[in-house]
Amino acid sequence: MTGGFAGRTAVVTGGAGGIGAAFVRRLATDGAAVAILDLADATEVVDEVEEAGGKAISVICDLTDPDSVRAAQRKVRTRVGPAHILVNNAGVYPHQPFDTLTFDDWRKVFSLNIDALFHTCQAFLPDMRADGWGRIVNITSNSVGLVFPGVTHYVASKMAVIGFTRALATEVAGDGVTVNALAPSLVRTPTTESGPEEAFEAMAQMQAIKRSQVPEDLAGALAFLVSDDAAFVTAQTLTADGGLVRS
Ligand code: NAD
Repeated sequence: MTGGFAGRTAVVTGGAGGIGAAFVRRLATDGAAVAILDLADATEVVDEVEEAGGKAISVICDLTDPDSVRAAQRKVRTRVGPAHILVNNAGVYPHQPFDTLTFDDWRKVFSLNIDALFHTCQAFLPDMRADGWGRIVNITSNSVGLVFPGVTHYVASKMAVIGFTRALATEVAGDGVTVNALAPSLVRTPTTESGPEEAFEAMAQMQAIKRSQVPEDLAGALAFLVSDDAAFVTAQTLTADGGLVRS
């Protein structure tokens, strides 16, 4: 435990595995009590955190359903207290050419990648504003600055994350709440590793840092954005992608 977030409650969506689990481990190591909101049971990550001396809980939640998110917020409040930190990490990234995309496919991506941020921010912001301190980090993607086919729905939703981040930051700054976005490259997670290995090599070769990104590469950037040190940093997108996209 390093203790930088002692006394803070953090909510991490999609924290049952992949990048989200790395965020959970880092926040818990730094002293936060972490609530994992996920469709999947996060007991494995919770056990790992507790074995290391930290505090985490698993809350089953469908982030696309506002009632489920509101119920999760009540559970978090009761079990680990009002939230100070919200990490909107859960997202889907199916590849599909535009001419085969149905409106239903489009809506599925938007309902998790951007609508869910509306639900979680509506649910968790009031406690942050009442406390006069809060940190929201929304996970976008460096693909918004790259030339890939088959991702119109995904890139549109991740650009929406950046727009939402900027606009919300303006509205909540007066209450001590910052809102930032964090953009990874292609990261090795169980989901991405179910795809072709060549994709990792191709991406690594385009990056300045020529190795595949792993979830832990994002943990330090996340820890900075939710820290007191980042109190004057808001409405920004931090691209942590091995130096690929330059903005
Ligand atoms: P992942 O597929 O490993 O995990 C996503 C998690 O979200 C899962 O635990 C899943 O159960 C949960 N989830 C899915 N639908 C849900 C719902 N309706 N309600 C609650 N939980 C739900 O994802 P990942 O690869 O770790 O990616 C995490 C985030 O990072 C996503 O927003 C993704 O777009 C972004 N990102 C990932 C990469 C990458 O290469 N992995 C690159 C750039 C951006």
